[in-house]
Amino acid sequence: MDKCDILGVKISRVTMEEAVSNAGGFFGGGVHTVYTPNPEIIMLAQKDEEYKKILNDADMLLADGIGVVIGSRIIKNPLPERVAGFDFVCRMLEGGYSFYLLGAKPDVVQLAAEKLINKGVNVVGLHHGYFEDDTEVIKDINEKEPDILLVCLGAPKQEKWIAKNKDKLKVSLCIAAGGTLDVLSGKVIRAPLFIRRIGLEWLYRALSDPSRIARLGAIPGFLFKVIRSV
Ligand code: UDP
Repeated sequence: MDKCDILGVKISRVTMEEAVSNAGGFFGGGVHTVYTPNPEIIMLAQKDEEYKKILNDADMLLADGIGVVIGSRIIKNPLPERVAGFDFVCRMLEGGYSFYLLGAKPDVVQLAAEKLINKGVNVVGLHHGYFEDDTEVIKDINEKEPDILLVCLGAPKQEKWIAKNKDKLKVSLCIAAGGTLDVLSGKVIRAPLFIRRIGLEWLYRALSDPSRIARLGAIPGFLFKVIRSV
């Protein structure tokens, strides 16, 4: 798969359609991983070499944030489009696969599962994201044998959890999906389509949840570092 190297993080050069089609090849031979870096994640990887390696070991790294696409244009190696992690998960949910939901608060993951089951998605198991003991969680996942494990523990915890436990998991695909369960449960409302289309979903999320405002600081730092890298 062709890659675009942004500050040492090798993003897959794929459209949403190509991402979904590539993921279709991840079933039936070992555990595969898909992560969805945004500028904040790429900045975290600048200070944490182990995390950068975990990201680059993924089978597919999707450009979750518009900032990543802008970064690729700055280095004159443009990515075709933003491939939002949430939208990618939604496409996989339509694919007839079985899912295990791991992450978020207990009521949130329960609500997300109920909503998905009502829509006909095959949810075979779930666990909230505030656990201490990996062993019990992994045992439950392996007993349920899902095709896809959604790991929604926030970055970098989710990617590190997958990397640490990948060899023990009996699943075909792990997707690190951040706040996806919050949105699927209805507890968090996504930005309206026109805001997503003009590339301002990050601003909408921060304004609707002020606890996220500090996280916006990563974006100018990211763009500055990308410009300096040219
Ligand atoms: N979370 C979790 N366990 C933790 C920390 C966080 O399950 O120890 C969940 C949290 O409840 C939320 C998600 O991880 O559902 C993180 O969402 P966030 O919006 O930060 O992720 P993003 O989409 O920005 O990566």
